[in-house]
Amino acid sequence: MKNLSVTSFFTCLVGVSVLSLGAGASLAQGTPPPDHPAVTVNGKTYTPRSILARNMGSEADRITAFPPHHIIGNIYYVGTNTLSSFLITTPQGHILIDSTYERNVPTIAKSVADLGFKFSDVKILLGNHAHGDHQEGDALVKQMTGAQVMAMAEDVPLLQAMKPDGKEHPIDRVLHDGDAVTLGGATLIAHLTSGHTPGCTTFTTTAQDGGKTYNVMFGCSLRPPAVVTPALVDQFNRAFKAVRALPCDVQLGDHGAQYNMQEKYAKVKEGSPNPFIDPATCTLEADVQQAMLNAILAEQPQAGRP
Ligand SMILES: [Zn+2]
Repeated sequence: MKNLSVTSFFTCLVGVSVLSLGAGASLAQGTPPPDHPAVTVNGKTYTPRSILARNMGSEADRITAFPPHHIIGNIYYVGTNTLSSFLITTPQGHILIDSTYERNVPTIAKSVADLGFKFSDVKILLGNHAHGDHQEGDALVKQMTGAQVMAMAEDVPLLQAMKPDGKEHPIDRVLHDGDAVTLGGATLIAHLTSGHTPGCTTFTTTAQDGGKTYNVMFGCSLRPPAVVTPALVDQFNRAFKAVRALPCDVQLGDHGAQYNMQEKYAKVKEGSPNPFIDPATCTLEADVQQAMLNAILAEQPQAGRP
Protein backbone atom coordinates (compact mmCIF):
# COMPACT_ATOMS: atom_id res chain seq x y z
CA MET A 1 0.00 0.00 0.00
CA LYS A 2 2.32 2.71 -1.28
CA ASN A 3 -0.31 5.44 -0.97
CA LEU A 4 -0.87 4.72 2.69
CA SER A 5 2.78 5.12 3.60
CA VAL A 6 2.99 8.40 1.69
CA THR A 7 -0.10 9.60 3.54
CA SER A 8 1.36 8.62 6.90
CA PHE A 9 4.54 10.51 6.09
CA PHE A 10 2.71 13.75 5.40
CA THR A 11 0.31 13.45 8.30
CA CYS A 12 3.31 12.86 10.55
CA LEU A 13 4.80 16.09 9.24
CA VAL A 14 1.67 17.86 10.45
CA GLY A 15 2.15 16.26 13.83
CA VAL A 16 5.74 17.37 13.95
CA SER A 17 4.84 20.96 13.21
CA VAL A 18 2.17 20.95 15.93
CA LEU A 19 4.46 19.28 18.44
CA SER A 20 7.30 21.70 17.75
CA LEU A 21 4.90 24.58 18.35
CA GLY A 22 3.77 22.84 21.53
CA ALA A 23 7.33 22.89 22.79
CA GLY A 24 7.04 26.68 23.00
CA ALA A 25 10.71 27.46 23.40
CA SER A 26 11.49 25.73 20.14
CA LEU A 27 8.92 27.84 18.29
CA ALA A 28 11.65 30.09 16.91
CA GLN A 29 13.54 27.17 15.34
CA GLY A 30 10.33 25.35 14.33
CA THR A 31 9.13 25.74 10.80
CA PRO A 32 5.76 27.45 10.86
CA PRO A 33 3.53 26.65 7.88
CA PRO A 34 3.71 29.08 4.94
CA ASP A 35 1.71 32.31 4.90
CA HIS A 36 0.22 31.36 1.52
CA PRO A 37 -2.12 30.58 -0.10
CA ALA A 38 -4.76 32.91 1.34
CA VAL A 39 -8.45 32.07 1.13
CA THR A 40 -11.44 34.20 2.11
CA VAL A 41 -14.53 32.45 3.47
CA ASN A 42 -17.52 34.33 4.92
CA GLY A 43 -15.56 37.58 4.77
CA LYS A 44 -12.59 36.25 6.75
CA THR A 45 -9.16 35.62 5.23
CA TYR A 46 -7.09 32.62 6.27
CA THR A 47 -3.59 31.31 5.50
CA PRO A 48 -2.06 28.04 6.71
CA ARG A 49 -0.04 30.08 9.23
CA SER A 50 -3.02 32.07 10.50
CA ILE A 51 -5.09 28.89 10.90
CA LEU A 52 -2.38 27.18 12.95
CA ALA A 53 -1.92 30.33 15.06
CA ARG A 54 -5.68 30.60 15.58
CA ASN A 55 -5.87 26.94 16.62
CA MET A 56 -2.88 26.88 18.95
CA GLY A 57 -2.62 30.40 20.41
CA SER A 58 0.38 31.03 22.67
CA GLU A 59 2.14 28.49 24.88
CA ALA A 60 0.19 30.01 27.79
CA ASP A 61 -3.10 29.55 25.88
CA ARG A 62 -2.35 25.87 25.36
CA ILE A 63 -1.82 25.15 29.06
CA THR A 64 -4.16 27.62 30.80
CA ALA A 65 -7.64 26.38 31.73
CA PHE A 66 -10.47 28.18 29.95
CA PRO A 67 -13.35 28.69 32.41
CA PRO A 68 -15.03 25.26 32.51
CA HIS A 69 -18.60 25.65 31.31
CA HIS A 70 -21.86 23.99 30.37
CA ILE A 71 -22.40 23.72 26.61
CA ILE A 72 -25.71 21.89 26.27
CA GLY A 73 -27.56 19.04 28.00
CA ASN A 74 -24.99 16.83 29.70
CA ILE A 75 -22.02 18.25 27.76
CA TYR A 76 -19.34 20.52 29.30
CA TYR A 77 -16.08 22.19 28.24
CA VAL A 78 -13.07 21.34 30.45
CA GLY A 79 -10.15 22.24 28.16
CA THR A 80 -7.61 25.07 27.95
CA ASN A 81 -7.88 28.38 26.07
CA THR A 82 -7.09 26.68 22.75
CA LEU A 83 -7.08 22.89 23.27
CA SER A 84 -10.56 21.41 23.68
CA SER A 85 -11.54 18.74 26.16
CA PHE A 86 -15.19 17.78 26.54
CA LEU A 87 -16.99 16.02 29.38
CA ILE A 88 -20.21 14.10 28.75
CA THR A 89 -21.81 13.23 32.08
CA THR A 90 -24.11 10.28 32.77
CA PRO A 91 -25.53 8.66 35.91
CA GLN A 92 -23.09 5.77 35.35
CA GLY A 93 -19.93 7.82 34.98
CA HIS A 94 -18.53 10.16 32.38
CA ILE A 95 -17.01 10.21 28.91
CA LEU A 96 -14.02 12.50 28.29
CA ILE A 97 -13.03 13.54 24.75
CA ASP A 98 -9.37 14.63 24.36
CA SER A 99 -6.82 14.50 27.17
CA THR A 100 -4.66 17.10 25.33
CA TYR A 101 -1.01 17.37 26.52
CA GLU A 102 -0.03 15.18 29.44
CA ARG A 103 0.86 18.27 31.47
CA ASN A 104 -2.73 19.53 31.03
CA VAL A 105 -4.36 16.48 32.62
CA PRO A 106 -4.31 17.87 36.21
CA THR A 107 -5.78 21.12 34.81
CA ILE A 108 -8.59 19.19 33.12
CA ALA A 109 -9.18 17.19 36.32
CA LYS A 110 -9.52 20.47 38.25
CA SER A 111 -11.98 21.86 35.68
CA VAL A 112 -14.08 18.69 36.02
CA ALA A 113 -14.05 19.11 39.83
CA ASP A 114 -14.88 22.84 39.54
CA LEU A 115 -18.05 21.85 37.64
CA GLY A 116 -19.01 19.58 40.55
CA PHE A 117 -18.10 16.24 38.96
CA LYS A 118 -15.51 13.63 39.95
CA PHE A 119 -12.59 13.07 37.58
CA SER A 120 -12.38 9.53 38.96
CA ASP A 121 -15.88 8.94 37.50
CA VAL A 122 -14.51 9.21 33.94
CA LYS A 123 -15.18 5.71 32.56
CA ILE A 124 -14.42 6.20 28.85
CA LEU A 125 -11.71 8.29 27.21
CA LEU A 126 -12.02 9.15 23.51
CA GLY A 127 -9.81 11.26 21.26
CA ASN A 128 -10.42 13.27 18.11
CA HIS A 129 -7.03 12.53 16.55
CA ALA A 130 -3.59 11.12 17.26
CA HIS A 131 -1.57 14.32 17.68
CA GLY A 132 0.12 15.17 20.96
CA ASP A 133 -1.89 18.33 21.59
CA HIS A 134 -5.06 16.20 21.72
CA GLN A 135 -4.09 12.75 23.02
CA GLU A 136 -0.68 12.84 24.70
CA GLY A 137 -2.34 12.69 28.13
CA ASP A 138 -4.30 9.48 27.51
CA ALA A 139 -1.99 7.24 29.59
CA LEU A 140 -2.14 9.62 32.56
CA VAL A 141 -5.96 9.88 32.37
CA LYS A 142 -6.11 6.09 32.36
CA GLN A 143 -3.74 5.98 35.34
CA MET A 144 -5.85 8.49 37.31
CA THR A 145 -9.32 7.16 36.44
CA GLY A 146 -9.05 3.60 35.12
CA ALA A 147 -11.10 4.75 32.08
CA GLN A 148 -11.43 2.53 29.01
CA VAL A 149 -9.47 4.20 26.21
CA MET A 150 -11.07 3.84 22.77
CA ALA A 151 -9.46 4.82 19.47
CA MET A 152 -10.25 4.66 15.75
CA ALA A 153 -8.36 1.76 14.13
CA GLU A 154 -6.63 3.97 11.55
CA ASP A 155 -5.04 6.13 14.30
CA VAL A 156 -3.77 3.21 16.41
CA PRO A 157 -0.23 3.14 14.91
CA LEU A 158 0.27 6.88 15.57
CA LEU A 159 -1.10 6.50 19.11
CA GLN A 160 1.18 3.54 19.83
CA ALA A 161 4.12 5.74 18.87
CA MET A 162 3.00 8.39 21.40
CA LYS A 163 4.84 7.54 24.62
CA PRO A 164 5.21 10.46 27.04
CA ASP A 165 7.96 9.56 29.53
CA GLY A 166 8.01 6.10 27.97
CA LYS A 167 4.42 5.31 28.98
CA GLU A 168 2.69 2.89 26.63
CA HIS A 169 -0.39 4.42 25.01
CA PRO A 170 -3.40 2.56 26.40
CA ILE A 171 -5.98 1.23 23.92
CA ASP A 172 -8.80 -0.88 25.35
CA ARG A 173 -11.19 -0.86 22.40
CA VAL A 174 -10.53 -0.25 18.72
CA LEU A 175 -13.29 1.69 16.98
CA HIS A 176 -14.38 1.52 13.35
CA ASP A 177 -16.34 4.01 11.24
CA GLY A 178 -19.94 4.12 12.47
CA ASP A 179 -19.32 2.37 15.81
CA ALA A 180 -21.38 3.43 18.82
CA VAL A 181 -19.91 4.24 22.23
CA THR A 182 -22.50 4.02 25.00
CA LEU A 183 -22.52 4.78 28.72
CA GLY A 184 -25.35 5.51 31.14
CA GLY A 185 -27.90 6.37 28.44
CA ALA A 186 -25.49 8.47 26.34
CA THR A 187 -24.56 7.29 22.85
CA LEU A 188 -21.79 8.72 20.70
CA ILE A 189 -21.24 7.63 17.10
CA ALA A 190 -17.66 7.60 15.81
CA HIS A 191 -17.34 8.82 12.20
CA LEU A 192 -14.08 8.37 10.31
CA THR A 193 -13.14 11.77 8.84
CA SER A 194 -9.52 11.07 7.90
CA GLY A 195 -7.05 13.42 6.28
CA HIS A 196 -5.53 15.42 9.12
CA THR A 197 -4.64 12.02 10.61
CA PRO A 198 -5.57 8.61 9.13
CA GLY A 199 -8.05 7.99 11.97
CA CYS A 200 -9.32 11.53 12.57
CA THR A 201 -12.69 10.96 14.25
CA THR A 202 -15.78 13.15 14.38
CA PHE A 203 -18.18 12.11 17.14
CA THR A 204 -21.90 12.86 17.12
CA THR A 205 -24.47 12.64 19.88
CA THR A 206 -27.73 14.28 20.94
CA ALA A 207 -28.44 16.55 23.89
CA GLN A 208 -31.56 18.10 25.41
CA ASP A 209 -32.07 21.82 25.91
CA GLY A 210 -35.35 23.45 26.94
CA GLY A 211 -37.31 20.27 26.19
CA LYS A 212 -35.90 19.91 22.68
CA THR A 213 -33.33 17.45 21.30
CA TYR A 214 -30.30 18.84 19.47
CA ASN A 215 -27.62 17.14 17.37
CA VAL A 216 -24.11 17.77 18.64
CA MET A 217 -20.96 17.25 16.54
CA PHE A 218 -17.47 17.01 18.06
CA GLY A 219 -15.48 17.83 14.93
CA CYS A 220 -11.99 16.58 14.19
CA SER A 221 -9.44 18.92 12.64
CA LEU A 222 -9.80 19.17 8.84
CA ARG A 223 -6.62 21.22 8.39
CA PRO A 224 -4.53 20.04 5.43
CA PRO A 225 -0.71 19.99 5.50
CA ALA A 226 1.41 22.31 3.32
CA VAL A 227 1.94 19.58 0.72
CA VAL A 228 -0.84 17.23 -0.30
CA THR A 229 -0.79 13.95 -2.21
CA PRO A 230 -3.64 12.70 -4.42
CA ALA A 231 -4.44 10.01 -1.82
CA LEU A 232 -4.63 12.63 0.91
CA VAL A 233 -6.82 14.88 -1.24
CA ASP A 234 -9.24 11.96 -1.65
CA GLN A 235 -9.32 11.41 2.12
CA PHE A 236 -10.01 15.09 2.85
CA ASN A 237 -12.73 15.29 0.21
CA ARG A 238 -14.41 12.24 1.73
CA ALA A 239 -14.13 13.88 5.16
CA PHE A 240 -15.67 17.19 3.96
CA LYS A 241 -18.54 15.26 2.42
CA ALA A 242 -19.04 13.16 5.57
CA VAL A 243 -19.04 16.20 7.87
CA ARG A 244 -21.58 18.05 5.70
CA ALA A 245 -23.89 15.03 5.82
CA LEU A 246 -23.90 14.74 9.61
CA PRO A 247 -26.89 16.05 11.57
CA CYS A 248 -25.71 19.14 13.46
CA ASP A 249 -27.19 21.92 15.58
CA VAL A 250 -24.18 22.39 17.87
CA GLN A 251 -20.75 22.28 16.25
CA LEU A 252 -17.76 21.75 18.52
CA GLY A 253 -14.12 21.15 17.56
CA ASP A 254 -10.79 19.91 18.89
CA HIS A 255 -9.59 23.54 18.97
CA GLY A 256 -12.05 26.10 20.36
CA ALA A 257 -11.30 28.46 17.46
CA GLN A 258 -12.92 25.97 15.07
CA TYR A 259 -16.31 26.89 16.53
CA ASN A 260 -15.64 30.40 17.90
CA MET A 261 -15.78 29.00 21.41
CA GLN A 262 -14.58 32.15 23.18
CA GLU A 263 -17.07 34.42 21.36
CA LYS A 264 -19.95 32.02 22.00
CA TYR A 265 -19.01 31.58 25.67
CA ALA A 266 -19.04 35.39 26.08
CA LYS A 267 -22.69 35.38 24.93
CA VAL A 268 -23.87 32.82 27.51
CA LYS A 269 -26.56 34.53 29.57
CA GLU A 270 -29.27 33.16 31.86
CA GLY A 271 -32.61 33.44 30.07
CA SER A 272 -31.05 34.05 26.62
CA PRO A 273 -30.90 31.51 23.77
CA ASN A 274 -27.99 29.06 24.05
CA PRO A 275 -25.24 30.55 21.81
CA PHE A 276 -23.73 27.11 21.21
CA ILE A 277 -26.88 26.13 19.25
CA ASP A 278 -25.76 27.51 15.90
CA PRO A 279 -26.57 25.24 12.94
CA ALA A 280 -25.58 27.98 10.47
CA THR A 281 -21.89 27.53 11.36
CA CYS A 282 -21.87 23.70 11.40
CA THR A 283 -20.04 23.44 8.07
CA LEU A 284 -17.97 26.65 8.32
CA GLU A 285 -14.78 24.80 9.29
CA ALA A 286 -15.24 22.34 6.40
CA ASP A 287 -15.79 25.30 4.05
CA VAL A 288 -12.60 27.04 5.24
CA GLN A 289 -10.45 23.91 5.05
CA GLN A 290 -11.83 22.79 1.69
CA ALA A 291 -11.11 26.23 0.23
CA MET A 292 -7.60 25.98 1.68
CA LEU A 293 -7.05 22.47 0.30
CA ASN A 294 -8.14 23.62 -3.16
CA ALA A 295 -5.86 26.66 -2.96
CA ILE A 296 -2.91 24.49 -1.90
CA LEU A 297 -3.68 22.18 -4.83
CA ALA A 298 -3.76 25.14 -7.20
CA GLU A 299 -0.24 26.06 -6.03
CA GLN A 300 1.04 22.53 -6.74
CA PRO A 301 -0.79 21.62 -9.96
CA GLN A 302 1.13 18.36 -10.35
CA ALA A 303 -0.62 16.78 -7.36
CA GLY A 304 -4.21 15.72 -6.98
CA ARG A 305 -5.19 16.21 -10.62
CA PRO A 306 -6.62 13.24 -12.47
ZN1 LIG B 1 -3.62 17.84 14.72
